[in-house]
Amino acid sequence: MSSNPMVRAEHIVKRFGSHEVLKDISVTVERGQVACLIGPSGSGKSTFLRCINHLESINGGRLWVDGDLMGYRQRGDKLYEMSPKEVSRQRADIGMVFQSFNLFPHMTVLENIIEAPTRVKNVKKQAAVATAMQLLDRVGLAHKAKVYPGHLSGGQQQRVAIARALAMEPKLMLFDEPTSALDPELVGEVLDVMKGLAQSGMTMIVVTHEIGFAREVGDSLFFMDGGVIVESGDPREVLANPQHQRTQSFLSKVL
Ligand code: ADP
Ligand code: MG
Repeated sequence: MSSNPMVRAEHIVKRFGSHEVLKDISVTVERGQVACLIGPSGSGKSTFLRCINHLESINGGRLWVDGDLMGYRQRGDKLYEMSPKEVSRQRADIGMVFQSFNLFPHMTVLENIIEAPTRVKNVKKQAAVATAMQLLDRVGLAHKAKVYPGHLSGGQQQRVAIARALAMEPKLMLFDEPTSALDPELVGEVLDVMKGLAQSGMTMIVVTHEIGFAREVGDSLFFMDGGVIVESGDPREVLANPQHQRTQSFLSKVL
């Protein structure tokens, strides 16, 4: 078995034009661990997740997922950019859940879930449906398989979005403020599904303002501000005893 961490980001730099949004970000996430990423709006949290998933290209640094260098092939001591096809193969192993659910509105719940496995991974429809029904059962929504997303609550839609991501059998799940768009009474059901996923051993990076989730479920916590990791460590320690003034100031607003 490989002893590589699941995610190793080293000195990641990302610019939009002249705006340097990520400045030398280094993060390691071990297999089966849950890393939580917190920080003020505009600090670069979403951009960092999007870089991990190849939704953005990086301007500096290196990123490995499960020991694979992302976006590049190495021959000798030279690096070559991967073809779009190779990139999409790497991306298929990383699940992502967004704040805004992003389900296909014209497809039923079941169709949403089997779409990527059948199209990207060439899974046979019957097998994809069987897996989808198991996943729906896992998120408590097997009875909604034939329903269109518009008829579901926000919490239910987000649980479907999680099931849809899991249908690709990802080795890593990225969550970008998955509960921020939900009415408060619907947050718990989504966090419960995420907690179950964490307990099942999934490696997860979670951008969240749910400090209770970070404290209870997180194995590590990263506080990001202005494109840098200001502070990181055991969530319980960082939250109880933040060392940096910027962390203290942020936590005093969200706690
Ligand atoms: P967060 O998720 O922490 O709120 P983001 O990663 O969304 O922060 O954004 C970080 C900074 O990068 C912001 O200043 C934002 O305006 C900028 N930014 C994000 N995406 C783009 C883009 N596609 N083009 C230009 N600027 C962007
Ligand atoms: Mg964001």
